[in-house]
Amino acid sequence: MTDPKDSTSHETGRHAVRLPGPALAALYLGVVLLPLAVALFGRAAPADPWEHAAAALGMVAVVAMAVQFVTSGRFDRVSRHLGIDKIMAFHKIAAWWVLVAVVLHPLFYVLPTWLDAPALGRERLEVYLTLPHYRSGVVAWAAFALLLVTSLLREKLPWRYETWRATHLPLGVLAVAGSLHHAFAAGRFTSASPLPPIWLATGVAVAAVVGVLYGWRWFKLHRHPWTLASVSRVADRMWQLHVEPAPGTPPLIYRAGQFVWLTVGRRRFPLLDHPFSLSDSPLDPGTRLIIKEVGDFTSTVGALVPGTPIGLDGPYGEFVLEGSDAEAVILIAGGVGIAPIMGLLRDMLARGERRPVRLAYAVGAPANFACLDEIEAARTRLDLHVLLLSESSAPDYRGEVGRLDRQRLTTLLEGLDLARSVVLMCGPGGMVTAVSDALLDVGMPMRRILYERFDYTAGSSRQDRRRTRRFAAIGAGLALGVAMFALAAS
Ligand SMILES: Cc1cc2nc3c(=O)[nH]c(=O)nc-3n(C[C@H](O)[C@H](O)[C@H](O)COP(=O)(O)OP(=O)(O)OC[C@H]3O[C@@H](n4cnc5c(N)ncnc54)[C@H](O)[C@@H]3O)c2cc1C
Repeated sequence: MTDPKDSTSHETGRHAVRLPGPALAALYLGVVLLPLAVALFGRAAPADPWEHAAAALGMVAVVAMAVQFVTSGRFDRVSRHLGIDKIMAFHKIAAWWVLVAVVLHPLFYVLPTWLDAPALGRERLEVYLTLPHYRSGVVAWAAFALLLVTSLLREKLPWRYETWRATHLPLGVLAVAGSLHHAFAAGRFTSASPLPPIWLATGVAVAAVVGVLYGWRWFKLHRHPWTLASVSRVADRMWQLHVEPAPGTPPLIYRAGQFVWLTVGRRRFPLLDHPFSLSDSPLDPGTRLIIKEVGDFTSTVGALVPGTPIGLDGPYGEFVLEGSDAEAVILIAGGVGIAPIMGLLRDMLARGERRPVRLAYAVGAPANFACLDEIEAARTRLDLHVLLLSESSAPDYRGEVGRLDRQRLTTLLEGLDLARSVVLMCGPGGMVTAVSDALLDVGMPMRRILYERFDYTAGSSRQDRRRTRRFAAIGAGLALGVAMFALAAS
């Protein structure tokens, strides 16, 4: 069995290159705009700039749709550059500019006619939408629209989360396959430029992604099973699962604070997996997971029987302390957000952390606190100050009552050099947003505030808004590329 201590840095890619944001943005723009650059080498018939813009939008939509498969948070090599929270936010925002491109694509073709003679413009649009020659494009269009609508309305649809996921992938594949067929069947630049190899490569890349996700990973989940060693109740509707590698399964090489996708039972199909943080130190060959009951799957974990086969796919995420040059560590947990925080804390204990550590742990009611004995014991071995906060009180509760406001944060951070400290925060969306902004108000630099949310909500903290503005600039870059192509090709 490999000693996790020996292989951590190598296997987890700790020293792997992490591209900075501007380099990632340039890479994205380069990939999505590549077909336009290639199309310029072709000899398509001269046309109106609007028609060239229409063609460019179609080309951009195909590649941007394909890229969505790798920004889905399931590829650590992609998400490690930004972290899961940001990569999922990008995935959602990019879907909007794909939609804009897909909607404008047919409209721009008919726009010049429409402006001259509206009736004729409508007739042309009708032809595009009904002629068999364009059918694959219409199918792709409809599949993407349906994908976006079902994603936007996911919380309101009477579907299980798994049902939504089961439709998301086939709709995405249909949208890309339909658009690629449409590019070959009707693409004005495809037949007159060196574009076909690009479309073929796009199709192969998407097929490979689906193969890795649902073929290779399914195989690995069965080849390297884990076993449930024990389940214990740690708080109201909260369970701690201790899982261990089955004989022959190598230990999981990860960094404290990361997460895995977990499947339970004999089927262990990746479509049925759920993300959970690793609440342990990588120095332990097994691992613990803290899970809160919130729905169909999580409500069953308390009744799982030791010996149940478990599948773990991971590790993922950048909610880690490893590699940080900070002189002090501030951990903030809200509710089940304690799961990765316990992973970080247990790892600090295992590694004999010497830096000052401050922990703020906030819950709705005292019955929701988990692992309090362990946190209390950690105070004797670490330079650890703990603030326990509950929104309501109980007879034997001795912590503070209320929320983690600016005043409490100021007290928590007293004596620390904020520019040389780091915050790792995990909790419900609302709390993360409020506390992140409050941390900025008390002088914490934004780049020193790291957070992870469990619900992928974009949120609206100042940090989120800055991120959204940066992502919007990438969308604007695509629009500029389309406009330049339209002018250059005309
Ligand atoms: C990076 C990350 C780490 C997480 N770590 C933990 C943890 O350590 N402990 C913990 O208790 N919870 C954690 N969660 C949340 C956990 O994954 C969901 O609570 C769980 O998947 C809900 O499943 P369900 O079938 O019980 O609920 P459902 O009734 O199916 O869904 C309830 C809500 O949970 C969300 N959800 C459901 N399934 C998934 C899924 N496969 N992926 C993402 N979101 C989903 C959806 O927003 C859904 O609306 C984490 C989530 C993420 C994204």
